[in-house]
Amino acid sequence: MTVNQVDHVPNRPDWACKQCGRPWPCVTAKMNLLREFGCAHLSLRLYLAMQMHEAINDAGKLSAAQPMPDFYDRFLNWVHVAPTADSRPAQPDALGGLNDESTIV
Ligand SMILES: [Zn+2]
Repeated sequence: MTVNQVDHVPNRPDWACKQCGRPWPCVTAKMNLLREFGCAHLSLRLYLAMQMHEAINDAGKLSAAQPMPDFYDRFLNWVHVAPTADSRPAQPDALGGLNDESTIV
């Protein structure tokens, strides 16, 4: 890990990147997170959800007069998790023929 990768971390409580000043995660932080988590996008989303929770708590402490940013888009909407075979909706065949009138006595 290089020095620049370490520096693209959030500054609390405003959650701006310490290195570039953009809202965290900035583009460089996103690239670093993707590299760090590899194919484990679900784990990355869980990590970012925890970070988002902290950011929401911090935003509530800063100023009630400022509108809340869209934390979902900022923290989570850029990581996509591919559906797995277990997460597909049940197919009619998976009901075991219980809807088939021929099985009703
Ligand atoms: Zn940055």
